[in-house]
Amino acid sequence: MKKIVIATHNPGKLKEFQDLLAPLGYEVTSSGVLGLPAPAETAPDFAGNARIKAVAAAKASGLPALGDDSGLSVSALNGQPGIYSSRYAGDDYPGAFAKIIAAADAKNDRHAWFTCALCLAQPDGSSNTYIGEAHGHIAPSPRGESGFGYDAIFIPNDYEQTYAELGSEKDRISHRARAFTQLYEVLAAQPPQAGLRLRA
Ligand code: IMP
Repeated sequence: MKKIVIATHNPGKLKEFQDLLAPLGYEVTSSGVLGLPAPAETAPDFAGNARIKAVAAAKASGLPALGDDSGLSVSALNGQPGIYSSRYAGDDYPGAFAKIIAAADAKNDRHAWFTCALCLAQPDGSSNTYIGEAHGHIAPSPRGESGFGYDAIFIPNDYEQTYAELGSEKDRISHRARAFTQLYEVLAAQPPQAGLRLRA
C-alpha cells in the first residue's frame, strides 16, 4: 500500500487527510503519530511554510510527506493576518472578527481571501506545491454555526452566505478544495505499487 505522512501534530487534521486520501489507496500517518519534531514555520508566505513542514517530515520519516498552510488575508489590513491567522485570533475569534470588521468598515474595503498551500515532498528534499485561493468579502457581522476559524465572517464571491452558513457546500468551493483538486490529480495518478512520484 502507498504510504504518506501528513506533516501535522493535529489529530483532527490527520483524520481529514485520512478521509481524503484513503479512497486513493493511501495508508496515511502523521509526523505527530511518528513522534517527529514540528519545525519552526519561518517562511514569509503560505507556500514556504507548507514546504518547510513537508520537507522536514519527508526527510525525517523517509516517506513522501504532505504539508499545508492556510489563512485569511484582509485587504483593509494590508493582507494581514495571512500566515499569522491562527496567532492573530489566539483563543478569541470573536475579538479577531471585531477587529477585522472594524478595519473593513473604516477603510470601506471588504475584500478578503483565503489561501491554502499544500506541499508534497520526497525524502530527497524535492517538492511540488499547490495553491488554492478563494476570494470574497468580509461580512458586516459574524453569521453561521458550521466550520471553524474565520468562517463566520467570510462571504465567498458568487454567494450571499458566509463559509459558516454554507455547511458542506464550503468543502466543494473552498481554498482548500481548490488546492486539493490539483494535488488529487497527482496522487490519483500513482500506480498502487509505485513509490509516490512528483509531476515533472
Ligand atoms: P493552519 O493552516 O492549520 O495553520 O491554519 C491557519 C489558521 O487560518 C486557522 O487556525 C484559521 O484561523 C485560519 N483558517 C485557515 N483555513 C480556514 C478556513 O477554511 N476557515 C476559517 N479559518 C481558516
